[in-house]
Amino acid sequence: MINTASHCPCGSGNSFGACCKAIHISHAAAAGAEQLMRARYSAFVVRNIDFLYNTFHPSTRRFQDKNAIRKWSVENKWMQLHILKTTFQTVEFEAHYLNTEMEVQIHHEKSTFKKLGNLWYYVDGK
Ligand SMILES: [Zn+2]
Repeated sequence: MINTASHCPCGSGNSFGACCKAIHISHAAAAGAEQLMRARYSAFVVRNIDFLYNTFHPSTRRFQDKNAIRKWSVENKWMQLHILKTTFQTVEFEAHYLNTEMEVQIHHEKSTFKKLGNLWYYVDGK
C-alpha cells in the first residue's frame, strides 16, 4: 500500500499525505478541477471507492455503481497519470494502466467538473 510519505500516485512530486490523501480526507481541500481529478486518479490507485463515488456530481452520481467502480479500481494496475490540458472546468488526461491480461492500456479522457458551494465534483468525461 501507499503510505503518506510515498510519492503521490498522481505524479505531482509531492508526498501522498500532502497531496491527494489530504483531499481524500477533506473533499474541500481540492481547490480546482485538476486537483480533484488527480485525487480521483489516486483514489483508483488506493481503492478509495467511497471518495470516487462521493465526488461524482449529484446529477450523475445516481447512475454510478460502487461495485463497478471497485471492479475497475481493483482489476487494473494503475501505472501513471499524464495531465494534458487543464481549464477552469475541464481536465484532459491519460491514465496508463495494465489490464487483467497485463496489457498496457491508455485511458484518454476529457473530464468536466463543476463546483457546488465550495466543493468540486466530477460530472462526466468523453
Ligand atoms: Zn496527488
